[in-house]
Amino acid sequence: DLRPIRRALFSVSDKTGLVEFARFLAERDVEILSTGGTCKALRDAGLTVVEVADYTGFPEMLDGRVKTLHPKVHGGLLGIRGNAEHEAAMAEHGINPIDLLVVNLYPFEATVAKGADYDTTIENIDIGGPAMIRAASKNHDSVAVVVDVEDYQRVMEEMTAHAGATTLGLRKHLAATAYARTGAYDAAISQWFARELGDTFPRRVVVAGQLKQSLRYGENPHQQAAFYVTGDQRPGIATARQLQGKELSYNNLNDTDAAFELAAEFEAPTVAIIKHANPCGVASGPDIVSAYKAALACDPVSAFGGIIAINRKLDGATAEEICKLFTEVVIAPEADEAAVAAFASKKNLRLLVTGGMPDPTSAGMTLRAVSGGYLFQNKDNGRVSLDELKVVTKRAPTEQEVKDLLFAFRVCKHVKSNAIIYVKDGCTVGIGAGQMSRVDSSRIAAWKSQEAATAAGQAQPPGTIGSVVASDAFFPFADGLLAAAAAGATAIIQPGGSMRDAEVIAAADEKGLAMVFTGMRHFRH
Ligand code: 5GP
Repeated sequence: DLRPIRRALFSVSDKTGLVEFARFLAERDVEILSTGGTCKALRDAGLTVVEVADYTGFPEMLDGRVKTLHPKVHGGLLGIRGNAEHEAAMAEHGINPIDLLVVNLYPFEATVAKGADYDTTIENIDIGGPAMIRAASKNHDSVAVVVDVEDYQRVMEEMTAHAGATTLGLRKHLAATAYARTGAYDAAISQWFARELGDTFPRRVVVAGQLKQSLRYGENPHQQAAFYVTGDQRPGIATARQLQGKELSYNNLNDTDAAFELAAEFEAPTVAIIKHANPCGVASGPDIVSAYKAALACDPVSAFGGIIAINRKLDGATAEEICKLFTEVVIAPEADEAAVAAFASKKNLRLLVTGGMPDPTSAGMTLRAVSGGYLFQNKDNGRVSLDELKVVTKRAPTEQEVKDLLFAFRVCKHVKSNAIIYVKDGCTVGIGAGQMSRVDSSRIAAWKSQEAATAAGQAQPPGTIGSVVASDAFFPFADGLLAAAAAGATAIIQPGGSMRDAEVIAAADEKGLAMVFTGMRHFRH
């Protein structure tokens, strides 16, 4: 299964490592064909190259749209070596076999990322490159195809080890990589088109991305993992700049994303602290240092080793407060010099800056793997406004209660169901997440609030007394509501819509609670 390489075709937009690789081949008497720009780069380096246009007898034309789309190129890539008919046809038409194809494509994704205009983007759709890659990959039994600069070394090593030949094993690997590349390339084009058309939920969408980072491991050390990015430029985990700290892990990426999206929900200075993709404290305040302290007070025990997201520039005072506790990641739109200096001694702490906040109301999609397929949906960008709230109890909430109710319901959207969130004065005071029963979430939130009060060392009552409470979905029975009332909540926000709404409303009235229905649910799993 060894195939000697005698002729190679180079056509690359990214010319990194090109000359070294070509020189390695030239030294082994490999004939080199290449397209205009690549040919020039190689000749400038003193290498002998046959220009594809000279080989085919056709010039590059139509602004480079047609360069290599010719039977003398595609026949050379597709003809099966050792097949008598193929070899006879090739000889008859003056087609030379090409044993190695080195192509990287017009930088479509980078062009989109730069915000190029429509025509420039269209012109950066490579046609001949993918055609050659697909041809060579199909014929991997005879041809080696390289689409990634990182694979140059591997091919050179194989050729060195096998007297100028490649193994079938390597050619198969290269072909698999090549089809992944052309698939991702077309996916990027289709996603760009969907965005152009303002299609918020394209019926046909190819999900693909580019490898951004191979991760040390996945959720657990025995799982392999990698981070793929789609090229979407909104500020967030995929585009963040890491200013310091260890490499991000799979769980860090997942949690940091959850934290930042949550912090982005609020206009006032806000801090969210996340553990295992759920918040253990979220608070708004006059400035971020007070917001941080309030968020931390919600559940200081869980916050250990957490992820902190901030929706304002990180300042020195907040950074110093953060340094008092072990924290894995801090993400913010920006960080000032004092903040960077405060973190300098915390070598492992990862500090990420994004340059801005994402718009939580913008359209987007979420994807999840299930066995045998994927579940695909619009992102939950739903929001309830003040005038959409329906008061269902005898007592209407006060102005302060309404403010806190809306805050609590927005936090709910970012908490695994069943979610019960107690809030007082723009800050969570008890969070119940991820329970199979709503009443359990309600009890856990109240219990944790009691624990936090005890841990604070003062003989203070738990924060839930005089708080408001949000539920991500309706209360199926009155018990969840009664648990909230027992914890001291005075007002409730929930979607409504249960068969037993009347019973739940009656229980609220009996306890003197104010309750509003949103008509919108925020399940999150
Ligand atoms: P060069 O810099 O050598 O002039 O062009 C290299 C680029 O052209 C590569 O990215 C390659 O994929 C692309 N390419 C090669 N043949 C064709 C073709 O026939 N049509 C188009 N549109 N692009 C091609």
